[in-house]
Amino acid sequence: MTNLATLIDRNAAFAPAKTALRFEGAAISYAEFSSMITRAAHALRVDHGVRPGDRVAVLATNHPAYLALLYACARLGAILLPLNWRLAAPELRYILEHAEARLCFLEPAFATTLTEAASDLPALPLDIPTGGADPEGPGTLEDPLLLVYTSGTTGRPKGALLRQEALFHNAVMSHHLHGMTAEDHILSALPFFHVGGLNIQTTPALQAGATVTIHPRFAPDTALESIARDRPTLFLTVPAVIRALLAAPGWADADLSSLRAISTGSEPVHQALIDAVTVRGVPLLQVYGATESCPIAVYTRLGGDLSRGTSTGLPGLLCEAKVADDAGRELPHGIPGEVLLRGRNLFSGYWRDEAATAACTIDGWYRTGDIATRDADGYFTVHDRKKNMIISGGENIYPAELERVLLEHPDIAEAAVLGAPDPKWQEVPVAFLVLRAGCIADAEGVRAHVAARLARFKVPRDVIFTDALPRTALGKVRHFELRPLVGTQA
Ligand code: ATP
Repeated sequence: MTNLATLIDRNAAFAPAKTALRFEGAAISYAEFSSMITRAAHALRVDHGVRPGDRVAVLATNHPAYLALLYACARLGAILLPLNWRLAAPELRYILEHAEARLCFLEPAFATTLTEAASDLPALPLDIPTGGADPEGPGTLEDPLLLVYTSGTTGRPKGALLRQEALFHNAVMSHHLHGMTAEDHILSALPFFHVGGLNIQTTPALQAGATVTIHPRFAPDTALESIARDRPTLFLTVPAVIRALLAAPGWADADLSSLRAISTGSEPVHQALIDAVTVRGVPLLQVYGATESCPIAVYTRLGGDLSRGTSTGLPGLLCEAKVADDAGRELPHGIPGEVLLRGRNLFSGYWRDEAATAACTIDGWYRTGDIATRDADGYFTVHDRKKNMIISGGENIYPAELERVLLEHPDIAEAAVLGAPDPKWQEVPVAFLVLRAGCIADAEGVRAHVAARLARFKVPRDVIFTDALPRTALGKVRHFELRPLVGTQA
């Protein structure tokens, strides 16, 4: 039966001794990794009674066993439920109950939280047993494999269900965008509980027979040391990670010579960050997508045109993308509209939520909720989420544009812009700012900074200074937590 685990077995047959995974100084060959998957599948089925379609939860930082469990689920036709380890017990409880998880593999550090969240759920250590050897399983590429709850920025958790085939098609696009082959070596430090950390480079690298160095979690100095020592060829980031690298003491002298490219996605990347990476001789590739698209949908690629600044690129090899009006009709280039996606990398719906699935589907296309424009050559530029857009006196304001300008102010470390209700203009922008240590910018100075760079209607009415902004694990601002503070609904 062909399933994603078969691909690892085939890579093990071609190159048994080749290193598949590196973790905390140990190397795991493709032959060993294939055996780990077999043993994990055996344990799931025989010891724990996991059947096709059952949900197997994992609450852990990045670890080789995490990936062995993913492929063991693929072999069995079961579904992996990766859990965000930053969630609080009530949030985890909601997901575990909604998904009806059968059991949970657990890193000891999260044991108390899991007990609080679901005391009856069988909790197992993240160890792969030594015995058991039945390489066959009923899983196929058509079976669902990943159930990922996304709620980072909009607040309401929905479980996106992704088939094995979606990961397969996503991997082909990763190979295309990175020019990835078995010769590559990936540094994987973004969390596996996000489809980005799992699928932009990690599972595609294993499908290609390449090597993956796993970091349990991202830390700037550790990442820079690893790049110099382990000499990876590719490294996936998000803008928040790039900012952390730039701020790290080791950045100025970091040896990046092994890297063919650094990739980034998850939110718009500002030109200053692109310049800061490329000036070091490493191309910065951009990926746009969502949990619902596994995630790769639109990208720039090595060998392609990387001179278009903040454009996120062209629709990927196996994903259709268009900029459309509310009725789903494609708009001419230059006109902003919603990004719609279609392809075999797309999800098969939200788990037990037909209303939410129907609400984001139009004529077989997935409505991303993002606003973008397409240029005459077909390149997409993503502006912001539709939900974040502020309409002030009939004019559209993209908070992301305003945040970019605010961050150009030397005193401002972090910025988030929201629309607040206004009797005259309908909505007006309000800025939440975190200042750099020791800086003393005031609201008037900030408004003058914006007024010198953008149209008057974009100048924030209120400027609110705060110590920190609520953010997701990938560093995106959780706008829905700020909305009640400006008088709009979460
Ligand atoms: P939720 O969907 O519940 O708000 P989330 O934002 O964490 O949570 P994800 O699926 O992780 O959900 O993120 C997908 C979104 O991230 C996209 O719809 C888009 O808004 C944004 N995004 C992803 N890549 C890019 C990119 N390269 N440029 C701009 N925005 C991006």
